[in-house]
Amino acid sequence: MAFDYARYIRPGKLPHIWCPGCAHGIVMKAILRAIDRAGLDKDRTVVVSGIGCASRMPGYVDFNTLHTTHGRALGFATGVKMADPGLSVLVVAGDGDALAIGGNHFIHACRRNIDITLVVFNNSIYGMTGGQFSPATPHGMLASTTPYGNPDYAFDVVQLAMGAGATFVSRSTAYHVLPLEKQIAEGIGHKGFAVIDALCTCPTTFGRRNKLGSGAEMLLWFKDHTIGLKASENLPPEKREGKILTGVFRKEVKPEYCEEYGKIIEKVRPARGGRE
Ligand code: SF4
Ligand code: MG
Repeated sequence: MAFDYARYIRPGKLPHIWCPGCAHGIVMKAILRAIDRAGLDKDRTVVVSGIGCASRMPGYVDFNTLHTTHGRALGFATGVKMADPGLSVLVVAGDGDALAIGGNHFIHACRRNIDITLVVFNNSIYGMTGGQFSPATPHGMLASTTPYGNPDYAFDVVQLAMGAGATFVSRSTAYHVLPLEKQIAEGIGHKGFAVIDALCTCPTTFGRRNKLGSGAEMLLWFKDHTIGLKASENLPPEKREGKILTGVFRKEVKPEYCEEYGKIIEKVRPARGGRE
């Protein structure tokens, strides 16, 4: 049976602002199917964003939604989750939003292991704000602020998240929609901070400037330049050369932040004479 997207969409907010060929709609739909797959209650689900093309998503979806300030989505989401740990909280953020302006929120959410699911719409560029290079723009690529080639090296979102202590870390692409959906659902079900690096495309400000072809051609690039983590283990190094690894890189059990914080509250309450 076809998936009923209408159940999760605010029709009054359409049409969306995304460009033709943009992969953000593909990632959004994967998130909706993942939420459905995870069995979340719409009224107990919160979707939080900062600023950018990806951050428009909460406007279109029928949950409790927050569209906040640039880079601060994880800060707002942390407040929401701590105020009511029973809520399911998802954050959607572009690579610039999540890793530059929001870089500190990102690493600290990882180390705290707060039970939030972050989907990074990683299209290697600041789309909405004018095609500036982001911390995920590959070395040498063109952006409006690196017209002679990006001298920086990109963050590897997966390695960054693991280094900072996230307990669920995965990567898929907008071409590999089923694994993407499954990973997001698994991240939602995981008790702790989950980071899903969702590689996607911006044909308008990244593809055009770097002559990467149409949105569809950019998606096909993912097909040819990624390799599953498990499959890669059996390949000689020369076959893995230049490929981006996808899959679930970490899934580990570790105390969750709100629960740990709750224990401190319980400890402090009797000492303060049981006052709230
Ligand atoms: Fe998508 Fe890029 Fe257009 Fe933003 S600017 S909607 S990321 S194609
Ligand atoms: Mg981006």
